[in-house]
Amino acid sequence: MDILCFGEPMLEFNEQSDGRFLAGHGGDTSNCAVAASRSGARVGVLTHLGADAAGDSFMQLWKNEGIDTEAVARNAHAHTGIYFITHGPDGHSFSYLRKGSAASLIRPSDIDPEVIGRAGILHVSGITQAISDTSCDAAFAAIDAARSAGVKVSYDTNLRQKLWPLPRARAVIHAAMEMADIALPGLEDAEALTGLSDPDAIADFYLGLGAETVALTLGSDGTLVAAGDRRERVAAFPVEAVDATAAGDTFDGAFLAELRAGSDPFVAARYANAAAALSTQGYGAVAPMPTRNAVEAFLRE
Ligand code: ADP
Repeated sequence: MDILCFGEPMLEFNEQSDGRFLAGHGGDTSNCAVAASRSGARVGVLTHLGADAAGDSFMQLWKNEGIDTEAVARNAHAHTGIYFITHGPDGHSFSYLRKGSAASLIRPSDIDPEVIGRAGILHVSGITQAISDTSCDAAFAAIDAARSAGVKVSYDTNLRQKLWPLPRARAVIHAAMEMADIALPGLEDAEALTGLSDPDAIADFYLGLGAETVALTLGSDGTLVAAGDRRERVAAFPVEAVDATAAGDTFDGAFLAELRAGSDPFVAARYANAAAALSTQGYGAVAPMPTRNAVEAFLRE
């Protein structure tokens, strides 16, 4: 398996401008897994779902996408992750996340080092959004298992400030970043977490924590990639973006898939910028995520 994604899948209900709610599969873990799989990587998900209809629906999605579910367990006493997003008149978004999901109850003892040892990369995102101390400990257990087995660790900050106070989130995320080989922060998160605003300074910060590769995503300004002594701004692709909700997750999945396909981080970022740009052209997280063929056709245009 190329990439094993750890975290909390969530069914999302996203308010549209006409007041309707668009329902879809979301949560960065599942989004990243789908994006990587569509880019041709062999992908698995490591999580717990509830024994409910939302859980069935994720299992069906992953089956359709060719994603391995060997490391997915169902908890009969908890619900599958779920959240709602509403938008205020000034464009501000508010999200409500239902606590206590099956994924938030994952314990360190649920982590099977053997499953992790079979992956090329363990991708963990936003330990803060795993909501509970237990699942946070489980995330670190997974990271430890990966490091012991020589599996690369990839980490995306995916900060959700409302769930944990910033100082606490910062401490936990920095601890995770210290163990990550591949750091995939978004600029907004990184600014809040590091107190820095200059992308180069932020890249230096994450290299200083120990990452060998940093890809700092800058929205429509593309990505700053730093690896070893080399550093480059990789341009975004100008597109009419209608919904950039899962752009960062699509970037992560496509970037990791392309690394596993043998590209260097700079080539991988160009590929991932293209995949993420395409994903902003449709509504919802999963539906507009492009396949490798679509990304390559777009890059040839
Ligand atoms: P996050 O959601 O994690 O903050 P970003 O907003 O930085 O992630 O977006 C991730 C990537 O998606 C960017 O590096 C860029 O390649 C692409 N992207 C995001 N917004 C746009 C846009 N408006 N136009 C083109 N590409 C975009």
